[in-house]
Amino acid sequence: MGQCIAGNAKINQTFKEKIMGLKIYNSLTKTKQDFVPLRSGMVGMYVCGPTVYGPSHVGHARTYVNFDVVRRYLEFLGYKVKYVQNITDVGHLVGDGDNGDDKITKQAKLENTDPYAISYKYECMYFDAMDKLNILRPTISPRATGFIPEMIDMVQTLINKGYAYVTSKGNVYFRVRKYAKYGQLSNRKLDEAKSGERILVASDKENPEDFALWKTAEGGHIMKWNSPWGVGYPGWHLECSVMSKKFLGETFDIHGGGLDNIFPHHESEFAQSEVANGKPFVRYFMHNNLITVNGTKMGKSMGNFVTLDDLFTRHSPMAVRYFILNYHYRSVVDFNEAEITKAEDQLNKIAEIYKKVCDNASNMMTMNLTDADQAYQKFLAAMDEDFNTPLAISELLKAVKYANSAVTGGKVGELAHIKTLLDSMFNILGLDLSKKGELVADNAQSQDNLLDLVADIRTKLRAEKNYALSDYIRDKLAELGVSSKDKKV
Ligand SMILES: [Zn+2]
Repeated sequence: MGQCIAGNAKINQTFKEKIMGLKIYNSLTKTKQDFVPLRSGMVGMYVCGPTVYGPSHVGHARTYVNFDVVRRYLEFLGYKVKYVQNITDVGHLVGDGDNGDDKITKQAKLENTDPYAISYKYECMYFDAMDKLNILRPTISPRATGFIPEMIDMVQTLINKGYAYVTSKGNVYFRVRKYAKYGQLSNRKLDEAKSGERILVASDKENPEDFALWKTAEGGHIMKWNSPWGVGYPGWHLECSVMSKKFLGETFDIHGGGLDNIFPHHESEFAQSEVANGKPFVRYFMHNNLITVNGTKMGKSMGNFVTLDDLFTRHSPMAVRYFILNYHYRSVVDFNEAEITKAEDQLNKIAEIYKKVCDNASNMMTMNLTDADQAYQKFLAAMDEDFNTPLAISELLKAVKYANSAVTGGKVGELAHIKTLLDSMFNILGLDLSKKGELVADNAQSQDNLLDLVADIRTKLRAEKNYALSDYIRDKLAELGVSSKDKKV
């Protein structure tokens, strides 16, 4: 679309001044609060990143598109945002608790390779998928394995303060019952947690709800480090406490993640950080809701797991992004490909009108734009209300409708200003219209087309009774693991 690619729009300052002020629903206080950052003009934001042991899926798309919009809107408001998002490459055990194999080590065994090769492979795939969704890269993307000495220091501090204990097996656990506020984020009472988790309790814990800070590396565990308590590896929750402190300080503004991170992950991060640092941990906790597939929970064991590589062969990443943003981040997204197709059609219409705006915009500007300006202001007001993207999109559509009527009505003097408004809205939502219809990772489809072509050639050869060449192609295909059947000619 040439010059029509959404750029950084310069918006009249008066628009920003008219904004009522950003409000964020804080999972910690369970209320919507005015957003006031710790340091004027700056926002420190930490979002739990992926555990890199498998292909990225629609759950990742949802979480990181949602927080990308949070970051983009904060930047639009003029904040300098430091966005830290970790890569979990050690310590996340199967089942999220303190028992079982490390997820990455387990996958390494399945793929018959090194755990470090697994985490690097899936980290690359993750960023590749996020780039396609037009998600801005984090300011800092630290890997857990890079911060083991800092983790050991924090564990030692917790032991020194009497909130952690070393067992005879060399494991170190956080003494949950000593921390009275445990459960404040997830609204769990200790007794409930106790009965729920009892089956998985490791035998050397003082209490079943205690969580691991450091675990002894048993057997052939490859990812392991020396520590004052023996050779082992860190508990999963520890990394986020350590890396957020390292890059954002002991107290920071926004901590985000999926709803499934609240317990035990964020609850445990919270406890160990506040005890170790003696300071409040986070000012605003934000949690995006989950994805269901046709009404049921998505999961590998449910057989309804949708990877992004697969999805992007049928729908453009930009349509997936637009589909996600049609839901508020705190609502459940029911994943449905028919709805993504509808979103794609709508995005194509928006792009068509936007192109007309670009093609017809004139330097002769008139300022009679109450409808478009009103839609723009309502768009910003919706974003101010806890990032209400579906409401914001409904205002975007009104502005697009007005843009269309301005084009058809020949009001070319208005188009340059309308383009500025549209660009601003596209930027905040991260919609890059130049990529609206692009399918990616389309290898499977092109491979199918190639095989159809080869089958056609064989059919023609046999029609000409050239059986030798036809059989030669069939045998070579078989060597490549492709079976081909002869059609009647
Ligand atoms: Zn985390």
